Amino acid sequence: MYRSDSDGLDAARAQLVSYSARLLDDGLAVGSAGNMSVRVGDRVAITPSGVSYTEMRPDDICLVGMDGAELQSSETPSSETPMHLAIYAAAKAKAEVGAVVHTHSPEVIALSAGRDELPAIHYAITGLGGPVRVAPYVRFGSSGLADAAVAALDGRSAVILRNHGAVTYGRDLAQAYDRALLLEWLARTYRLALSYGEPAILSAAELDEVTAESRRRRYGERRSGRP
Ligand SMILES: [Zn+2]
Repeated sequence: MYRSDSDGLDAARAQLVSYSARLLDDGLAVGSAGNMSVRVGDRVAITPSGVSYTEMRPDDICLVGMDGAELQSSETPSSETPMHLAIYAAAKAKAEVGAVVHTHSPEVIALSAGRDELPAIHYAITGLGGPVRVAPYVRFGSSGLADAAVAALDGRSAVILRNHGAVTYGRDLAQAYDRALLLEWLARTYRLALSYGEPAILSAAELDEVTAESRRRRYGERRSGRP
């Protein structure tokens, strides 16, 4: 193992433990539900199965190859490892998919039971690629669920899994996690809007305009050059 890879792995493990604690604090999962991974070179560091987020330590984070082979694990890799690996494998631009976050957050699960899509209730949904599809229900941990998630992610960085949860990806864990928070916020906002009757939904043309303007303004980038 090259030193840079080893350093990258240590950083990924520490980051996964730190974000796992946030997952509970932010209400995106309870107990040991949900899971997260970070790609390190041609391998993936992923949270273990059945380890409480409050007790998770960097050594508990598992390392698997892109083929699913366990490379370095004191615990059992997440049951959703096949879904994480399928999302990395399907990436059109490898740099765009450096981390995957899978939540069991209540607003998206509630929405998934009654809707086929999270519509554009707010223009911030352009940060996820547009209206977010609800993938059909398939049992957790199955290759069928991995296939359904990948199909529904087409052109999006988020997918809602019916009666299960949600998945987001990003170039790094910070971006993937921010998208999970954004997705949950959008689902909540949509539910609140429904309480006033049928809400106005932004059109594809209006979303395209937002995307174009965001690009023009380099929206979200600080002048200091920090992301
Ligand atoms: Zn799950």
